[in-house]
Amino acid sequence: MPNNPTYFELLKACTQPGCPVCRLEQEAVERYLDHLFYESVNDPGVRAHLRNSLGFCQEHTRLILNARLGGALGMSIIYHDVLGTVLKRLLGTKALSDESTIFSRLLGRIPADLETIRKRIRQAISPHEPCLGCRQRDSTAYMVLSVLMEKIQDQEMLAAFANSDGLCLPHLRLGCKLAQDEVALAELLKVELEKLEKLHTELAEFVRKNDYRYIKDGFGPEGNAWRRAAQLAAGGQVNKQDHA
Ligand SMILES: [Zn+2]
Ligand SMILES: [Zn+2]
Repeated sequence: MPNNPTYFELLKACTQPGCPVCRLEQEAVERYLDHLFYESVNDPGVRAHLRNSLGFCQEHTRLILNARLGGALGMSIIYHDVLGTVLKRLLGTKALSDESTIFSRLLGRIPADLETIRKRIRQAISPHEPCLGCRQRDSTAYMVLSVLMEKIQDQEMLAAFANSDGLCLPHLRLGCKLAQDEVALAELLKVELEKLEKLHTELAEFVRKNDYRYIKDGFGPEGNAWRRAAQLAAGGQVNKQDHA
């Protein structure tokens, strides 16, 4: 009997709509960011990382703002640091001679070729570390898919996975990479092919019913198949309303 909590979380996620790995990733990232804003904004290590990563990536900034994970004060502290870092990188510090800053070079105080200046500006305004939300997302996906691929031949896990909506394509790619043998890979593909074929049929049905001769038939579960298919192809946030 497995005693890994991820195993049970995965079993539960398989009973819910959408890719179970996307769901667990999403939950883990939200928990992590929530904790970060409540507990770690003043942690010197976290603050240093956030300065180097220039805050969060687009996906996780949207999540923080939409889900109101970060309070106004925490966000102000973090982004005061981030903009301070960008300014320091662009302008240099007072300890450095004026001639060494990007700005001085740009103003022509000292000669420099345009490409060198562009490169220095790009470096100054680019993250030097990955987003903490992405790091949490990727480590969760790796952990969950490792458990899935290790346990996919167990009856309980295989039944749960077969009843789920299957993996999105990005997680299928990672799952294939983590498969330990041909049997595990074959089980994964068998389930996934069934899901793909079913969704493929639903899309054809949706297109068919859009013909004026059949429009009166009304739509069944295939009504949102296009949203589920796009989500399956791209992966990412699971929306409950997109799953029948
Ligand atoms: Zn996924
Ligand atoms: Zn991110």
